[in-house]
Amino acid sequence: MALRLFGCICGQFHSPGAGMAMPGDRVTVPIPFYVLEHPDGVALFDCGLPAAMIDYDDTYRAALRTQDLDATLTSDETLTSHLERLDIDPARVRFAALSHLHFDHAGGLKELPNATVVVQRREWEAGFEPERSRHYGLRKRYFDLGHQVQLVDGERDLFGDGSAVLTPSYGHTPGHQSLRVRSEQGDHILVGDACYHCGVVESRQFPDMSDHPAMNRSLDALLALRGPDTVMVWGHDPEQWGDTPVLPSARD
Ligand SMILES: [Zn+2]
Repeated sequence: MALRLFGCICGQFHSPGAGMAMPGDRVTVPIPFYVLEHPDGVALFDCGLPAAMIDYDDTYRAALRTQDLDATLTSDETLTSHLERLDIDPARVRFAALSHLHFDHAGGLKELPNATVVVQRREWEAGFEPERSRHYGLRKRYFDLGHQVQLVDGERDLFGDGSAVLTPSYGHTPGHQSLRVRSEQGDHILVGDACYHCGVVESRQFPDMSDHPAMNRSLDALLALRGPDTVMVWGHDPEQWGDTPVLPSARD
């Protein structure tokens, strides 16, 4: 059995258009996470939103609303519901590789009791520094949960066979990383928030809090990794998750 890759939508993020480098007063973008089913175990890349955010009165949702932002999800969009539909017991997820430590990427970790978190060392360290964690919005309540943690410096081949290779793409946050996947469905680069959507490849309109020179370098490096048939899966691109999603979320 070769690697199988699934893409699941765990809720939506709501923001002024400018915050997502999109036209329009208000925009709604999908929050994807990815499931890698490998003969040596199941790995996730990102974990979506925390299930607690189903509740309108969740304290972090209330904090987001004070900044004109919000995140919503339904009970059938949680990480656990997606895994159950794929017949994967959350307790058997072996790796939770995180692009970065934002709530919409680390939020579902709580639902994975036995996973080893795989994250860039510089991201993890920033998460524990008061000033940088505040600047970049890295909240310990979503990632400091007692999991085993593997800290990565640069590239990491997750299963040791080249099928899933973490590659650093710093800038959105201090230790952001992306994932190159070779699966039954072809070659994909799961870009994460190194690039929110296709339009940013041209506009290079990056979030205010990010390190823009680093983001430019990272995006150029990711684009240079593409082969002729590589599909780039952007961080929050509504176009990729409409009627014909870029990745399946269910078995055929
Ligand atoms: Zn994000």
